[in-house]
Amino acid sequence: LSISATCTVAALDAFEPPPAWVAGPLIGLCCRAFLASFKIWNVATVGGNLCMALPAGPMISLCAALDGVCVIWTPDGGERRLSIFDFVVGPQRNALRPGELLRAIELPLAALTRRTSFRRASLSPLGRSGVLLIGALAAGGGFILTVTASTRRPVRLDFVHPPDGQELADRLAAEIPASLYYDDIHGRSDWRRHMTFEFAEEIRGEFGGGRP
Ligand SMILES: Cc1cc2nc3c(=O)[nH]c(=O)nc-3n(C[C@H](O)[C@H](O)[C@H](O)COP(=O)(O)OP(=O)(O)OC[C@H]3O[C@@H](n4cnc5c(N)ncnc54)[C@H](O)[C@@H]3O)c2cc1C
Repeated sequence: LSISATCTVAALDAFEPPPAWVAGPLIGLCCRAFLASFKIWNVATVGGNLCMALPAGPMISLCAALDGVCVIWTPDGGERRLSIFDFVVGPQRNALRPGELLRAIELPLAALTRRTSFRRASLSPLGRSGVLLIGALAAGGGFILTVTASTRRPVRLDFVHPPDGQELADRLAAEIPASLYYDDIHGRSDWRRHMTFEFAEEIRGEFGGGRP
């Protein structure tokens, strides 16, 4: 699926993926994680959300969970591609160089046909996402966990198979240092860290990982 950078959040939400794209419902879930009014939904673009690079950017969560590749136009008329994990480098910091623009985001079919699981929390019912985790089961049985909103940039953990609870907690602790958790008015970093572990364990259980 190639999503134009100028596609609005409202247009993406209205898109009906083919039934074979098992991960299709993630699109609507991520659009709805964007708790803005219809006025924003009809103007805000997928590309704008990625370029803004806020930790709570729900289009970042979607593209990170589905192996999104950013297609970038360069000032000399060329094109380069970057994984979403290299594109979003920190809060309100992206990897665009002067004069470049984001043209599109490509989501590979292999990612769209994965079984997925979604968890999100915010401090208030209509608040900005403080924690957003997406788990996915790859065709070969591998387990992929994508952590967004709670961290300053998206983080992906890959496992050969769904881990047991200890392995999952160890990897989270090792790969997300305390300094990588985001801290702002939408959530303190210790709350975001706690909820990240909670949701990761819930998702792990859903995919039949070993003992807690
Ligand atoms: C009530 C409200 C709620 C909000 N909730 C959220 C939320 O939950 N999560 C969240 O992440 N944000 C939220 N926002 C902030 C903002 O509206 C969104 O991040 C929105 O997705 C930005 O997209 P845009 O298309 O409006 O970007 P713009 O504001 O038009 O652009 C953002 C920046 O990126 C640049 N840019 C845009 N498109 C491209 C491109 N294709 N190539 C290169 N540069 C580009 C622009 O020049 C600008 O510097 C909210 C805002 C409001 C007012």
